[in-house]
Amino acid sequence: MSPDIHNASFKALGIKARYESIRISKENLLEGVRTLTDKGFKGFNVTIPHKVEMVQIVDEIDPLAKKIGAINTVGVENGKLIGYNTDGPGFLKGLQQFYKQDLLKANVLIIGAGGAARAIVMTLVSNGVSRLTVANRTIEKASNLFVNCEQKGQALTINEAEACLEQFDLIINTTPIGMEPNKDKMPILLENAKQKTYVCDIIYNPLQTNLLTKALEKGCHVQNGVPMFVYQAAMSFEYWTGRKPDLEKMTEIVNTRLLQK
Ligand code: NAP
Repeated sequence: MSPDIHNASFKALGIKARYESIRISKENLLEGVRTLTDKGFKGFNVTIPHKVEMVQIVDEIDPLAKKIGAINTVGVENGKLIGYNTDGPGFLKGLQQFYKQDLLKANVLIIGAGGAARAIVMTLVSNGVSRLTVANRTIEKASNLFVNCEQKGQALTINEAEACLEQFDLIINTTPIGMEPNKDKMPILLENAKQKTYVCDIIYNPLQTNLLTKALEKGCHVQNGVPMFVYQAAMSFEYWTGRKPDLEKMTEIVNTRLLQK
């Protein structure tokens, strides 16, 4: 969906540019990046599996992207590659529209300990959120998330987190459980969650995961992964063009595309 939302935004703002998807293999990353700059690209997004490797390739790196240890956006400025991470800040912008309490006081549970979880944890910590727990299938990965992190948090197994779920004000799923082929599964059982808990799933396909359906049945507030997706894209767009895209239009394009599926 990224080409759709970026190209629609270029058109709406009268910017003569085009966003396209290019496949670059792991072995040819450096050569692929050189080709992009030679061809005059103003910037690019970086996706799995290149986000971590890109840290070694750029000339300069934004401090938050350095802390996260992964880059999803590169700007080409005067021949130099500048690396950013908009996944974490994009998530936070979406969260700020959704979470109506004081985020600095929130007791937050993050499920999953992969790349997206790392971006979210580092961004929350950088913005003063201090009560963080990570629950993951592989507990070592949850503990590792707090290595080199200025704020230490708690690492739990999924079962341990389920047993004390009533403690948390905000629950964020960052695992792919809820997407195909695990569409009907739950990343965590919500039996012990408080009624007004905020439950956020960063999955956007499907728009409403099983976790969000169960959370609604329990009287929780819910948000899907569309705001994160749209905000991370909008922030990349701003780095490349210095212009703000129409967020509502971007959201409409994404929702329309996903409802057609
Ligand atoms: P990742 O680095 O591969 O991490 C996946 C995490 O989920 C790991 O902690 C893994 O546990 C856990 N997991 C995977 N399959 C599992 C299973 N069957 N049972 C239990 N745990 C499982 O992936 P990622 O890059 O963080 O992305 C995760 C999800 O976020 C994807 O669904 C992706 O589409 C979504 N995402 C959304 C946005 C957005 O803009 N909304 C942006 C980025 C990512 P182990 O550590 O035990 O392997």
